[in-house]
Amino acid sequence: MSHISNDSFWQHISDQLQSEIPAARFDAWIHSLSAHYSDHKLTIKVPSRFFVDGLKSNYGQRITEIACDLAGSPVTISYEVDASLASHSVQSDKNEEPASPASLVDGFIDPRFTFANFVVGSGNEFCHAASHAVADNPGEIYNPLYLYGGVGLGKTHLINAVANCLIDRGITKIAYRTGERFTNELIQAIRNGTSEQFRNQYRQVDVLIIDDIQFIAGKEKTQEEFFHTFNALYEVKKQIILTSDRSPRELTNLMERLRSRFNWGLVADIQAPDLETRLAILSSKAELAGVTLDKDVGHLLAARITNNVRELEGALTRLTAHSTLTGRVIDLTFARHVLRDLLHEEVRSVNIEDIQKKVASYFNINIREMSSSKRSKNIAYPRQVAMYATKELTTMSLPEIGRNFGGRDHTTVLHAVRKIKKMRDESDDFNEEMNRIINLLKQ
Ligand code: ADP
Ligand code: MG
Repeated sequence: MSHISNDSFWQHISDQLQSEIPAARFDAWIHSLSAHYSDHKLTIKVPSRFFVDGLKSNYGQRITEIACDLAGSPVTISYEVDASLASHSVQSDKNEEPASPASLVDGFIDPRFTFANFVVGSGNEFCHAASHAVADNPGEIYNPLYLYGGVGLGKTHLINAVANCLIDRGITKIAYRTGERFTNELIQAIRNGTSEQFRNQYRQVDVLIIDDIQFIAGKEKTQEEFFHTFNALYEVKKQIILTSDRSPRELTNLMERLRSRFNWGLVADIQAPDLETRLAILSSKAELAGVTLDKDVGHLLAARITNNVRELEGALTRLTAHSTLTGRVIDLTFARHVLRDLLHEEVRSVNIEDIQKKVASYFNINIREMSSSKRSKNIAYPRQVAMYATKELTTMSLPEIGRNFGGRDHTTVLHAVRKIKKMRDESDDFNEEMNRIINLLKQ
């Protein structure tokens, strides 16, 4: 975005990371870095090659996410070794592998993802309950636990929450991998002749978590290895947790014996949250970020970004960043401007003039009557229908709607909305007619 300067771009990412990760890790990994941003390319200067690997596997994904949110479009990240940084960095010894930030645990478990900040609502309550149960009784009840569903719905959050919960209780022999990393490690081990070590490393854990297991589909060698690891752990009642973007049945190219094992424990699917849950998630994220989110803006985001929580969160991050950097208040106009590409698909959405015009013609009254002071039933009723439809189909607030209906008070609008809602509940015929009207308005 044009008003984020090159310098402040990295500064913002760094600030954001500082608010998310423990101070010691921030100091070790992020603090001494500098970066240059231009034209959707972010070049991060790092002290050594070793550092790059550690940085990438621990924070690469998060850095990319924040950068993309900030830019509002994909950003390419590259790393440039700058030896002069080495003296400032904790990871200064070039011959030493960077210490794993979570030294007790193998693989990076994101401390931001906890049960406490996971909003439970429609779509995710089953997965949440299952994850909680597993965190309370690892290896005991649901083994394996298999969570699946579309992107950005909270699977990775939940399995990290389980891991964080276990760590808090002193269970630290946890191996956390993505399906991709598991595969790459295996390939590396075969190449280096260290397959035996690879195998042993996994058989000694108390909990094995593989995120995005779908990655191993179609990769025979990896599946074979995973199959044996699975059996070894399962036999001694060690907990296995898997996530995937689809159900075991839909995983084509998967060995039958693995597929059946994935079904041995509990398979739970996660679905997109409803409007109410999306609003709750937004307000929770806003609170975590320490910003107050205008109600109308929250409503706009929750209404328009419907099936990916990550995008919802990204929109909030972008708004906050732009507001901080430009000093502007986040109101509806600002939000619509900053997020215009995200909200773009919806520009065809209905506006209030359209609604008034179409409802008036449906009931055969003059459009001017919508804003007139007349209260006769044949006028008041269509007007109430139009007010209700405006509330349902636009993001306008009650006072805004009132103003557009001849300067009426918001309580009048509220009364209309409630009345029509009630009538819909009470009469199937009326409900059907309303559905017809709403469909007309959407065309
Ligand atoms: P997935 O792994 O299913 O693709 P993630 O777990 O990475 O999705 O979630 C994407 C983002 O949305 C994360 O930042 C996560 O914290 C957030 N998120 C998803 N669902 C919820 C929820 N119910 N409450 C709070 N945050 C959520
Ligand atoms: Mg995920």
